[in-house]
Amino acid sequence: MNRIFSGIQPTGNLHLGNYLGAIRNWVGLQHDYDCIFCIVDLHAITLPQDPAGLRASTREVAAAYIAAGVDPDHCTIFNQSTVAGHSQLAWVLGCLTPLGWLNRMTQFKEKAGKQKDMAGLGLYSYPVLMAADILLYKATHVPVGEDQKQHLELARDIAGAFNRAYGVEYFPLPEPQILGTATRVMSLRDGTKKMSKSDPSDYSRINMTDDAETVALKIRRAKTDPLPLPDSVEGLADRPEAENLLDIYAALASIDRDAAIAEFAGAQFSGFKEKLADLAVSVLGPIGAEMKRLVAAPDHVDAILARGAERANAVAAPHLAEIYEMVGMLRPQ
Ligand code: ATP
Ligand code: MG
Repeated sequence: MNRIFSGIQPTGNLHLGNYLGAIRNWVGLQHDYDCIFCIVDLHAITLPQDPAGLRASTREVAAAYIAAGVDPDHCTIFNQSTVAGHSQLAWVLGCLTPLGWLNRMTQFKEKAGKQKDMAGLGLYSYPVLMAADILLYKATHVPVGEDQKQHLELARDIAGAFNRAYGVEYFPLPEPQILGTATRVMSLRDGTKKMSKSDPSDYSRINMTDDAETVALKIRRAKTDPLPLPDSVEGLADRPEAENLLDIYAALASIDRDAAIAEFAGAQFSGFKEKLADLAVSVLGPIGAEMKRLVAAPDHVDAILARGAERANAVAAPHLAEIYEMVGMLRPQ
């Protein structure tokens, strides 16, 4: 059976983009693949994190997976730092990755800010760790949002570099699965910027745990232009905010973009936004409530993570032993 690996950073503020771009797709794929879903806490510390907050966010992300319908009896759910193989393989792969490949990564440029020389080495080598996450399990498919496409292409290049270096087809080249109508949900404050956990403005995103009033308020305040909604896809050109809200509506309603455009052709934003808020609340409300319930009594989540760590290690350890053998690491008996 083909294997899926995907993950989310426990950096707080899980949002609608994480749900539509990642988690919801995982739920739809979980019975057709052997699935490993990780909470990538080692990735989270590429930017400063408060230790207690990081632990709480790790549980919250696990709770989001479970509340959204990822079945822990069927899928492996664990946090990255419980499987040492991620860091160990990242070192091996880093030794095969030319700096030129990393220099092209746009996420580093966005996250490093203006003072690139002050950015941490971890933030720079983030895509190597991501390649290790996927390749450690020899995953064949990686369902992610559009923003991770470049990192995934790099993971394929790194897998190819390893295979060439050791003259074996050891790693499969992982395929991205960028699915649905909301593969890149944009900020509610700026239709040219992606919705992110790390955006300082809470009004830029709909959090998975926002209550109904907050969702309605954020959508009401979402940036739009003065025109009514378009009656054709051509009418969306140069209207990033209108495009984003229509795509969110289509994704939440499980219809395509054309159907969403047809439903609101020529309408004012105020009425559309009310319908969008109701729809967002009806989809996210039950998930957010279940997340809060799971986090309030974390024993259940912790037990799932502990079991997941065991299962993940059982797949990872033999792979790492094979890799070390190929690379030439002595294992004295
Ligand atoms: P951060 O700002 O900390 O990087 P993030 O919101 O980008 O947080 P990640 O943990 O980096 O979230 O990404 C987790 C998953 O969610 C990835 O598959 C990513 O592609 C997807 N994702 C993140 N933001 C969006 C978005 N705005 N639209 C669609 N998918 C998204
Ligand atoms: Mg991100």
